[in-house]
Amino acid sequence: MSLYCIKMRASVLKNDENIHISGAEKIINMEYIAKCSQNLINRALFHANGKPDFINLKIEEISNEKIKKLKSLPITTISVKSPKEGVKKVDELLKNIGIKNSKKILDKFKETYQMRGAMLLDINTLQRLEPDFKRGLRATYMDNSKIEFNPTKNHFHEALVLATKVANAPNIVGEICISDDKDYQIGYFASKKTGYVRITKLKEKGYEFGGRIFLYDGDIKDVNKTIEYLEKQCVIVEECNDLEKHSKWNFIEDELENLKNKKLYRNLLEVESPINTRVICNSKELLMFASNNYLNLANDEEIKEFVTQIIKNYGTGSGASRLICGNFKLNNQLEKALASFKNTEASLVFNSGYVANLTILSTLFDENDVIFSDELNHASIIDGCHLSKAHTIIYKHNDMQDLENKIKSVSFKKAVIVSDAVFSMDGDIVNLPELLKLAQKYNLFSMVDEAHSTGVIGKVGKGIVEYFNIKDTPDILMGTLSKAIGAEGGFVCGKKILIEYLKNKARGFIFSTALSPVTIASAIKGLDIIQKQPQRILKLQENIKYFNKILKEFNIKAQSETAIFPIIIGNEAKTLKISEQLFDKGYFISAIRYPTVEKGQARLRITLNANHKKSDLKNLVKDLSIILKETK
Ligand SMILES: *Cc1c(COP(=O)(O)O)cnc(C)c1O
Repeated sequence: MSLYCIKMRASVLKNDENIHISGAEKIINMEYIAKCSQNLINRALFHANGKPDFINLKIEEISNEKIKKLKSLPITTISVKSPKEGVKKVDELLKNIGIKNSKKILDKFKETYQMRGAMLLDINTLQRLEPDFKRGLRATYMDNSKIEFNPTKNHFHEALVLATKVANAPNIVGEICISDDKDYQIGYFASKKTGYVRITKLKEKGYEFGGRIFLYDGDIKDVNKTIEYLEKQCVIVEECNDLEKHSKWNFIEDELENLKNKKLYRNLLEVESPINTRVICNSKELLMFASNNYLNLANDEEIKEFVTQIIKNYGTGSGASRLICGNFKLNNQLEKALASFKNTEASLVFNSGYVANLTILSTLFDENDVIFSDELNHASIIDGCHLSKAHTIIYKHNDMQDLENKIKSVSFKKAVIVSDAVFSMDGDIVNLPELLKLAQKYNLFSMVDEAHSTGVIGKVGKGIVEYFNIKDTPDILMGTLSKAIGAEGGFVCGKKILIEYLKNKARGFIFSTALSPVTIASAIKGLDIIQKQPQRILKLQENIKYFNKILKEFNIKAQSETAIFPIIIGNEAKTLKISEQLFDKGYFISAIRYPTVEKGQARLRITLNANHKKSDLKNLVKDLSIILKETK
């Protein structure tokens, strides 16, 4: 039986010269020729390097006797902190296999940068042996043993196949490779003796130059045998099972390493107390300035007592989704209370605010619709836009002129403007009156996320509509039970027909088990307390005023009308360090970094609650001001 080698080369014509843009090869059974050809042509047509003027597809029969079968080199990975350390590792590996002038060999790398192929280097004389210095030597006619066709390109598998073929070439003692992909810092050293050694960093990120050197140790007279083998010998590499396991997880290891280097790695801190104004964390008492527990309802005695009774009557689980196994009276009670609090006809509860945004947007809007979304909207809105498949148009932050220009620039059958009411990482407030005017003028739906406005702004904490003291209400008022209300879950308030529609169509409602009666009960009681004890809201609003005043006194630029005060630092590592220093001083304040905010916009996000004392606020500003001065 024969196999077939398919080779694809794509190029563009520039000044009468064919410039290579992509290429690939596969060795496969006859039955896969059509499928594989199609795939390679697509690869050529849609390559990141550009659209080709020419695609060359060559299909060649190869008889089985001419094929050499090899076992893949064993793989190890060496993690290094910097390219400098990586190069040092290569130097050590070269010495390990008995090569003395490793420094000089590594110096040769510069000469490989413009070459498509590899340099063939005599390790003793440092003479270059490849026939064409400009083009370099290209190893071809090789593939892995997976004859059945796999359409995904796997750079790692392809590199391993090449390295295995090269390591088995006559008179070749090793290979060094650095990728020319500017996002790919990983390189490798391969030889029969060391196996395939991945080194996590061999060049700086963003550096587009790479290259390959084959190390030749033998009589110059035999060099043609080596070249002949590399260019013509057909090789199939059997990958060991080990490889599959190894390579499957590589992307995770690499990305975690990457996050650590960029100071974007996240850790969970263990809290050993309820969430209050003071918490115990790492056995240390800290003043909490990071939670969204604005009215201190997350650990409230009255709520706990009420919930204890509910547990006795209803238990702790809800059994299934509300449409499947019945619906506790509690759920209806909560929805009635929410609708009344927000002055709408009806409401519906979801399992979290995140799910609410995903579900509402994807149920109401589809690929025929347009969503106008503020550039600083919460991630759950962004994800909701994606899930809906609607054409999403991002407008400048709270810029109603930009929004109107963008509305005028497109045509649509159905569209919505969606915005945070209070922006979660900046603490500023949407220009709702203007937003509603535009929605009315252009006949659009309006949707507002009240996660950080409910219980915080407005005379008695009813949120954004009360804050602006307007008659109109957004069509879709979304919020969460997890912040000021102190429980868990998301909600939407609006017209009765909107709620009926969602109950019938919203997948995030239909296909998810209802929240526990414990959670529903705490939300009911939380909402009840908010309405019966407006002094909590007044106290929070007083704290906000006082904090603004103190910040001004200490010349810290951060003013806010809401409970969220961003102190923008910029640099991720610096922000993390300040957050750690504040932790040492007894303050729990998180460093907010990408992807929660843009890269280079890292910040401390300070949130206030009703139970912070004036002295707490003043002490924080004093300490913060000292730390900020020291880090400048
Ligand atoms: C927290 C938050 C959500 C998500 O609510 P959860 O109940 O925590 O899932 C949605 N939108 C905004 C603006 C938020 O800050």
